[in-house]
Amino acid sequence: MARRTKVYEGKAKILYEGPEPGTLVQYFKDDATAFNAKKKEIIEGKGVLNNRLSEFFMVGLNNIGIPTHFLKRLNMREQLISSCEIIPLEVIVRNFAAGTLCERLGLEEGRQLSRPLVEYCYKDDSLGDPLVSEEHIAAFGWASHQEMDEILSLALRVNDFLSGIFYGVGIRLVDFKIEIGRVFESDFQRLVIADEISPDSCRLWDIDSGEKLDKDVFRRDLGNLTDAYSEVAMRLGVIQPSNSKVAEPRLVK
Ligand code: 5GP
Repeated sequence: MARRTKVYEGKAKILYEGPEPGTLVQYFKDDATAFNAKKKEIIEGKGVLNNRLSEFFMVGLNNIGIPTHFLKRLNMREQLISSCEIIPLEVIVRNFAAGTLCERLGLEEGRQLSRPLVEYCYKDDSLGDPLVSEEHIAAFGWASHQEMDEILSLALRVNDFLSGIFYGVGIRLVDFKIEIGRVFESDFQRLVIADEISPDSCRLWDIDSGEKLDKDVFRRDLGNLTDAYSEVAMRLGVIQPSNSKVAEPRLVK
């Protein structure tokens, strides 16, 4: 089999050149990292689940007119995506206080915010992805004012979409991170939701029990990460329960 050209390798994914110009193949690894890669583990099956879950969310977003980089899933670990120029920002939307928001402002975890809070972090692992303001983004030319307006609107639309989907299966969308890319088509440029949307990049709590069903399970050693992600995937109908009682074939006499 012809070897593919690797374009980029990140902590959880690899990008290869795609079959046609303007496309890439995104491969989901089983690697889990936290605390800026200070904690690392291979979690068997995580890449497969995130590939399926990210496909589910991206297809849903495309279907309601929110553009994403997703074109199609190729196999258990890979999807075909549009090649885009990633804006070097992590766009974080928060509905409930958790994580670094609590650390920064001394808030109690789980407090509902009076409205969704959108934050921007500069994507640079060596700096620990620092929080930046729109002033920084404009001053350093990471995105234009017009793009920032569009990014804010996209982030809030994604939040409404995801919050509703999760609410329907008894899960609270506490917060999430998305990345935005620029896709160039002849003389035009448009913004798309890029990277992935999965329990790696969201905080998801069971609405009744408060059980964590996201990467905090790994960050805080709360249990088995693939069990948590499988639970999310099963509730959304993305995978079927593996222990569903399918009757064994019986010899009929
Ligand atoms: P926090 O700022 O509280 O650590 O994270 C807020 C939300 O963004 C959480 O859902 C978290 O999973 C997500 N997030 C923040 N930084 C990253 C990152 O570098 N990678 C991923 N996958 N998610 C992130």
